[in-house]
Amino acid sequence: MAKILCVLYDDPVTGYPTSYPRDEVPRVDHYPGGQTVPSPEKLDFVPGQLVGSVSGELGLRAFLESLGHTLVVTSDKEGPDSVFERELPDAEIVISQPFWPAYLTAERIAKAENLRLAITAGIGSDHVDLSSAIERGITVAEVTYSNSISVAEHVVMMILALVRNYIPSHKWVLDGGWNIADCSARAYDLEAMDVGTVAAGRIGLAVLRRLKPFDVKLHYTDRHRLAPEIEKELNATWHPDAESLVRACDVVTINAPLHPETENLFDDALLAKMKRGAYLINTARGRIVNRDAVVRALESGQLAGYAGDVWYPQPAPADHPWRGMPHHGMTPHTSGTTLSAQARYAAGTREILECYFQGRPIRPEYLIVDGGALAGTGQHSYSTR
Ligand code: NDP
Repeated sequence: MAKILCVLYDDPVTGYPTSYPRDEVPRVDHYPGGQTVPSPEKLDFVPGQLVGSVSGELGLRAFLESLGHTLVVTSDKEGPDSVFERELPDAEIVISQPFWPAYLTAERIAKAENLRLAITAGIGSDHVDLSSAIERGITVAEVTYSNSISVAEHVVMMILALVRNYIPSHKWVLDGGWNIADCSARAYDLEAMDVGTVAAGRIGLAVLRRLKPFDVKLHYTDRHRLAPEIEKELNATWHPDAESLVRACDVVTINAPLHPETENLFDDALLAKMKRGAYLINTARGRIVNRDAVVRALESGQLAGYAGDVWYPQPAPADHPWRGMPHHGMTPHTSGTTLSAQARYAAGTREILECYFQGRPIRPEYLIVDGGALAGTGQHSYSTR
């Protein structure tokens, strides 16, 4: 029987919810492009419940225990005395979420002698050392598309929040003020701006599609060009690299995976090539941008605003410089873990587990590493050192 080690974020400080603001989440059957949503044989939770936190257990306990397996759920993931490190050596399956990542480093993988499967309940498996997983024959799978639209909506929200100067304006209200000039001295219209995405995969393309009705000029860079009919539909300009894109854009959003090609991509040199007063939105991964270069660019005015929900490490320490830098709209890593998204990635996690225990193949679109190599989605979107 297998031991499944599941690392989830903490419950709300007010306790696990007993009621929710809404009675249901709308059902999605297909994603754009036709991929079907997860289809496990059964679900042991009601979509719309908080399943991403420790007490929610991704709705997996009854299912796993009915098969005789052991499920260990914890949020305690850092350091040699953490529950995660103590439970890891005999775990066969590790489940983790990018929002509260259990970093599966090369050292930890070396200690995890029984590990066969690492599941990302969400999208983005950069918290797993993919080279070590390849060497050890560990399968890495994620729930592709489960929260791509959730993130795309968050990106659009953050672009508007920065350009329109929403967050400081809201603060004047909370503080009892009516300081219109203070609010408007940094507020612009998005209309007619040049907006570009670094990567036009599932999220990047959804961002482009959502921004089109704002009458902006769209740009993108990606390793593979979009189909000509999509470029035409969006009237989007392709750029051969990030440098060419940032020179042309007022707003840049990053939607690429973190891998050796994208790590530290936005350093002092690339930020200096952006238009003065550009906005940068990063909901991809914190390490795609250089932490201190972003602070410098905001302080000098090279960037007019920075927003996103991804940090390094996660959780970010209380003294992380991004908490106090000027003109930012950061949130904790929340964009892909709405209650709507949780319903899909918890169902996808269960589907992957059902496949694993029944000896059925995992959908190729969920695979990042399999059989000692990058596989499925991983083969398309990732690289290794
Ligand atoms: P996809 O795999 O659909 O898209 C990723 C795109 O990035 C692909 O089109 C890929 O190109 C492109 N790409 C890879 N490397 C480069 C590069 N060096 N330069 C330009 N483009 C590149 O993934 P998603 O859109 O679903 O997700 C993207 C990332 O967003 C995830 O990997 C994750 O890190 C992050 N994410 C964040 C979430 C959050 O909650 N904040 C939630 C979900 C995802 P091609 O395949 O054409 O080679």
